[in-house]
Amino acid sequence: MNQSRIATLIRELLVEIGENPDREGLQRTPERVAAAWAELTRGYREDPTTLINGAVFSAEANNMIIARDIEVYSMCEHHMMPFFGRCHIGYIARDMVIGVSKLARLVDMYARRLQIQERLTAQIAHAVQSAVNAEGVGVVMSCRHLCMMMRGVEKHESVMTTSSVLGSFHHVQSTRLEFLHLIGSPKP
Ligand code: ZN
Repeated sequence: MNQSRIATLIRELLVEIGENPDREGLQRTPERVAAAWAELTRGYREDPTTLINGAVFSAEANNMIIARDIEVYSMCEHHMMPFFGRCHIGYIARDMVIGVSKLARLVDMYARRLQIQERLTAQIAHAVQSAVNAEGVGVVMSCRHLCMMMRGVEKHESVMTTSSVLGSFHHVQSTRLEFLHLIGSPKP
């Protein structure tokens, strides 16, 4: 990622919105924005295999494993504005489990890209599925989108909830209901 090129573009953006990029408060803004974008998009420069790095463990468990309330911070691809909320992941292991901190890092890896919430949810579900070869996976995410809250329709309180279910979470209704019961009603 060419941060000095991004800084140049941000400087041009400041001019186009009617600002003076040379005034005191803005002098280093292009560099700060470039550094922030490097962080907000670092997921493009990560891959799940390296990230998980062997943190998958053999286990007899065949019960449902739930990680609740994982924080999500992402950027919508339509407006390049933040959306944020919480994500709940459940899976039924066959013979492997993954460390809960790695689940959170998987969420981050996909969230630190330009996203739509539906795809982010599905990517997390598929990543968990392939990391542990789970019998089934469910992911539910509830987020507030600043592009909706601050502009356009200005729906300040609206929350979007998305879900992705794979394997037994998809085709066994009792499994899906157990998952939804265990995560409770998701709040952003
Ligand atoms: Zn948007």
